[in-house]
Amino acid sequence: MRKTDISVVIPVYNGADTISDALDSVLCQTAVKAVREVIVINDASEEDTTQIIKKWDEANPRKEFRLILHEFKTNRGVSAARNKGIELSSQNLVAFLDADDKWMPDKLKIQLNILRKYPEIKALGTGWDKLNLKPGKQVKNSLGYDLRVMDIKTELLYFWPSAQSMIIDREELLKLGGFDESMRYAEDGDLLCRLAEKCRIYYVCNELVSLGHGKNPFGEKGLSANLKAMHKGFQKTVKGCLKRGRINAVEYVFFLLWEEIKYIRRLRISAGIKRSCNKAPSDTANGNAVLSLLKRFAKICLALLRFIKQRTFLKSIEFQIVDHCNLNCRGCSHFSNISEKRFIDARVLTKCFDKLNSHIGYVYSVALMGGEPLLHPDLIDIMQYCRDRFPLSEIRIVTNGLLLDKMPEEFYRACHKNRILIYISKYPPTINKLDKIKEILSLYQVRYFISSTVREFSVCLNPEGTSDMKYTFEHCGRKSCTIVRDDHIYVCPISAYIDKYNKRFGQNIPQPEGLNLYDCSTDELLEYLKNPVRTCSYCTSRCKYINWSCSGDPDKTDWYGKTDD
Ligand code: SF4
Ligand code: SF4
Repeated sequence: MRKTDISVVIPVYNGADTISDALDSVLCQTAVKAVREVIVINDASEEDTTQIIKKWDEANPRKEFRLILHEFKTNRGVSAARNKGIELSSQNLVAFLDADDKWMPDKLKIQLNILRKYPEIKALGTGWDKLNLKPGKQVKNSLGYDLRVMDIKTELLYFWPSAQSMIIDREELLKLGGFDESMRYAEDGDLLCRLAEKCRIYYVCNELVSLGHGKNPFGEKGLSANLKAMHKGFQKTVKGCLKRGRINAVEYVFFLLWEEIKYIRRLRISAGIKRSCNKAPSDTANGNAVLSLLKRFAKICLALLRFIKQRTFLKSIEFQIVDHCNLNCRGCSHFSNISEKRFIDARVLTKCFDKLNSHIGYVYSVALMGGEPLLHPDLIDIMQYCRDRFPLSEIRIVTNGLLLDKMPEEFYRACHKNRILIYISKYPPTINKLDKIKEILSLYQVRYFISSTVREFSVCLNPEGTSDMKYTFEHCGRKSCTIVRDDHIYVCPISAYIDKYNKRFGQNIPQPEGLNLYDCSTDELLEYLKNPVRTCSYCTSRCKYINWSCSGDPDKTDWYGKTDD
């Protein structure tokens, strides 16, 4: 028989007013005997939350569960707090509750009835008061409950049920790696989607969780007050599903549009609540916000129409906007350490964006690369042009980060406004600057990603040109780094920039002409990217790993891979 002992996990941040009620609601459960421990993670509250929890503990000496209090020294967000709770838990079922919500007395009893009867259920939520939602497929059951099951696409439509109502198998949570700690908002929707890929998510429709202290679901207080950040969190979740291949590109666009509509609705609800609270909203601010939302919505619709018309998709594309670099790594795959100083003309680049758009309906990821892209004097304009042309794509700037703490304020504002992801390659010289960089990017709410430390480079040239080009291409990790150099597209940076190598070292490695974006059909373009190019004979499938270093005196052998013998 299934063991149904429960660890309850409650993250709390500045919850002095509400945490006692949340704990009382656990203590008052009719099935409280199943609760073995309640783990409260204080996420570095500024208020006297710890004292309140300790007092509650002392005031309830007869409770049968252990109260475990863990305190973070710095505020790490709700995902990190819940993950710590999962880590500290010792029972096979984990139930989540938020510090400003409450459970109805029969909540655990009803869930345990179902979990005992149907041990195959690994994740079970409940309904909430005020949110009369009943998505998903009804499941017949001998207990007579209105039990429903959700698949991943229904999850993406409703993000339901929410974490505060869920009981989840601890094993499943550990397998998933818990909540995504980079998400401070909408993190439970992300967890549900990843969970739905592994097991089915059930919920019983009874309204067994009370939205804390009479708050409304959106915009009044608590984390949900940050509607924009929530919106971004939902968008990230939808993107994650596309990345993991759980939805296709058409579905991706559909779910993004759906989320956009829900966002507008949430804003309206929130504005209504604020008005009813007599907090006069600023007409101008609201007007601007609505206008910018409408503009964004129109752009998304146009992009969707374009995709439906063209039905072509590219996973990623790189635009090299600066040839040279301020770091000059030995064996750079873009040959930036031996390139002359050169910036792409922003007008030429914009035309390339347009041209690519005329071929490809949807590009998942657009990277602005170098060399070092932060050196480009027109970078802020380029970011804006890029976002205008690719409203649905992830746009990233790939940088070594060395200049990030010196960029002007407008740069960060433009990153935030245009939803640009700063992708930082963590080279040894970057490491010392990371704390400052993170601080600045967080201040301006710019999304960023930091790679693991780059200690090695893989190099792959075979100067003899004796490789089987088909075989090398098939086994090449760089062939997905499709790159645009001026107005030509290439399968990879090696083939696009090998002329730099030839020129510097007097070599004659063949360079493909690339495909002129202005002078090819879409079919030709897609076909071109699937096939090896002449340069592939000069690559080896056996890469060599060289220690990362700056190249004071580059040598042609820096790029040599291992020979095939
Ligand atoms: S930082 Fe990047 S672009 Fe610059 S030299 Fe190193 S690998 Fe090349
Ligand atoms: S030239 Fe061919 S084998 Fe070499 S990196 Fe490019 S795609 Fe890969």
